[in-house]
Amino acid sequence: MQSVVVGAGIVGICTALCLQERGRQVLLVDRLPPGEGTSSGNAGIISVGSVLPEAMPGVWKEIPLMLLQRQAPVSLKLRYLPQMLNWFYRFLANSSAAKAEQSSIAINALSRLGLDYLQPLLERAGAEPLIRQNGALYIYETPSQFSRAKLNCSYYERRGVDYQVIRGTDLRSLEPSLRLGIAGAIMVPGGAHTVSPLAMSRSLFSLFQSQGGEFVQAEVTGFEQQGNFVASVCAGRRISCAEVFITAGAYSKALAKQLGSSILLDTERGYHMHLPDPEIVVKRPLLFAGRAFAATSMRDGLRLAGTVEFAGLKAPANYARAQILVKQAAYLFPGLNTQHGKPWMGFRPSTPDTVPVISSSPKYSNVFFGFGHGHLGLTQAGITGAMLGALASGETSPVDIDAFRIDRSMA
Ligand SMILES: Cc1cc2nc3c(=O)[nH]c(=O)nc-3n(C[C@H](O)[C@H](O)[C@H](O)COP(=O)(O)OP(=O)(O)OC[C@H]3O[C@@H](n4cnc5c(N)ncnc54)[C@H](O)[C@@H]3O)c2cc1C
Repeated sequence: MQSVVVGAGIVGICTALCLQERGRQVLLVDRLPPGEGTSSGNAGIISVGSVLPEAMPGVWKEIPLMLLQRQAPVSLKLRYLPQMLNWFYRFLANSSAAKAEQSSIAINALSRLGLDYLQPLLERAGAEPLIRQNGALYIYETPSQFSRAKLNCSYYERRGVDYQVIRGTDLRSLEPSLRLGIAGAIMVPGGAHTVSPLAMSRSLFSLFQSQGGEFVQAEVTGFEQQGNFVASVCAGRRISCAEVFITAGAYSKALAKQLGSSILLDTERGYHMHLPDPEIVVKRPLLFAGRAFAATSMRDGLRLAGTVEFAGLKAPANYARAQILVKQAAYLFPGLNTQHGKPWMGFRPSTPDTVPVISSSPKYSNVFFGFGHGHLGLTQAGITGAMLGALASGETSPVDIDAFRIDRSMA
């Protein structure tokens, strides 16, 4: 009997490959073609130096200010607020110094291994040319942003992440296309990126198929249980299964609920604008902290990706938010050609403590969860797959599973 993986984003595909490594016959199910959900539109950063949770101390002061700015990096659809109140409450509760430290430890435990666990899969898929390791540069435009960033470097130190503080005057030698007058930056030399997130998922999926993996394009609507065992997955037809993995990104909440686990998962919607002929190249991803977006040179142009919008899974995309990215990038890169941009919107699967769920089910003996990676799903996909593979096979997980349990307290 087969293992069924629900959701063929980057997390589901990596999980499917890690299950194949352990001798499983695997079936992936997705209503979209593989890799075409949120995993296709991200900024492509394999952010091995990630140490900062979204809920940092003092965030309660920053978010209202951000929401008031005209070109706000964070926006909230007021009609959606009642549905998110509990999530926000937990998010704020996670911003105490002690909780932020706890989240930082968990995030870093996964992210620092992100490339180590992704790379072997990419090598086997022949997809290494899709990866560059030129570091990642966090840009701080104003002296106050830069001073705060330098204070937060204590997180890098406590997690043992290599970083360099770059003065504003030295920035142009690193990234000549950037405008003058930027206060400074922090370089994380271990950072990497892909020049095509979608091509990466597709290559990994081809490897999966070449190893006998099957794919069904269908919507999963439910499960058939027998006692504490899930016997089949309903996806237009009954698919019998030996075990089920829920890796459905931001849509995992409803599926987990059907499987007896309630979880505070919501979505931070994000946008990108992909500029096909930018006339500039950045050597590594540039992350503009105060504007909540990144610029990454990809094989077919420059991708401006980021911002946060709280509006749930159903509201239509507001592509004006992608246009804001273009205006801001035109200011930051004086030589940028902004013509013919293609906008996109995707759903980050976000928990209030910025820590994903990588867990067995407390209720069903053959159900496993891997979702909630928020801003870091590409980075953490390989290690998540390895942890789920180990968990399902009774092996020791490469990272202790405790911080990622589905039934952990989220505040
Ligand atoms: C603008 C933006 C920039 C980002 N930049 C980065 C970055 O630089 N680095 C990084 O590490 N991360 C980044 N992220 C986050 C990253 O993209 C996500 O965390 C990651 O893609 C989540 O992967 P996933 O496989 O969990 O979800 P998804 O890619 O969303 O895949 C889930 C799949 O499940 C399927 N599905 C859901 N429900 C069902 C159902 N009932 N039946 C069948 N199929 C179903 C969906 O169709 C989808 O294909 C960014 C995100 C955004 C929005």
